Amino acid sequence: MRCAGLALGLLASTALAQPYLRTRALSNTGNSELCVTWSVRQLTYRQDTAGSSRTPVEAEFTAIDNAFAAWQALARGCSDFEFVRGPRIADAGVGKGTGDDNVIIFREENCRDVVPLADPCQTDSSCGNKHRCWEHGDATIALTTSTYSTRTGVVFDSDIEFNAGKSADGTRFLFTTISSPPCSEGMETPFCTAYDIQNTATHEIGHMVGFDHVSEPSSTMAPTAPLADLQKRVIDPGTASGFCGTYPRGKPPVPCDELAQLKSRITARNTGTLGCTCEGARGAVALQLVGLWALRRRRRSQAR
Ligand SMILES: [Zn+2]
Repeated sequence: MRCAGLALGLLASTALAQPYLRTRALSNTGNSELCVTWSVRQLTYRQDTAGSSRTPVEAEFTAIDNAFAAWQALARGCSDFEFVRGPRIADAGVGKGTGDDNVIIFREENCRDVVPLADPCQTDSSCGNKHRCWEHGDATIALTTSTYSTRTGVVFDSDIEFNAGKSADGTRFLFTTISSPPCSEGMETPFCTAYDIQNTATHEIGHMVGFDHVSEPSSTMAPTAPLADLQKRVIDPGTASGFCGTYPRGKPPVPCDELAQLKSRITARNTGTLGCTCEGARGAVALQLVGLWALRRRRRSQAR
């Protein structure tokens, strides 16, 4: 059996406004879709001990705990899903195989600034973990990478990175935790609301538990966030219905469509004989929250 990994980048949905959208990915056969879903009901997260160096005291850790607490409060009403705070860990890595599951990391350097051109990590996308740097787009505020079985869609690991590194034009996102007043563009300080950590984390946790972007701008899972956005701190009713419908209390997670149901029945029947333990039978899906301000800034610099 060939067990090649499958990497997919999903784009924001351009369909009509939907209350929620589950994250789908191609199966290892390439001819069916899977829903990326947890099979267990306990998700233990771990924050990197370094936190965010430009956020005063330890407010960033609390803000992230608050985001998980919002999801836990939702779960209490409809599901037996549990979000558990694990111990903080040093030098956390993204992806299955690093030994660190469900980590939250602030990347304070951009890889273009710290990775030598000849470093072999440039060819296999491993620079982020090797040099503890941000290796994704400048306009991306944060990104969640989920590793899942390409046979079943079951998630093994889901990690969140915040982009605190310098963009090509020398600016960077400032991550804050206070609720007011809003910062003015270009005048961000830790004493006004710039890019709110709890807002960003609540959105990214939505990706962690298997939800994709929707086009509805008021949704927690809207793909963009303007400067001083706080709206995503509160899980919107559409996303809440998606979570409750996917992880009902006392019942297995709900497959996302008939094809997935068929697939899970086939998988269940074959479990004893297939038993693929190949490390490569994994896919990775990365979903990002994009800053509207950064997009505008980039368009302006392109126009020059
Ligand atoms: Zn996103």
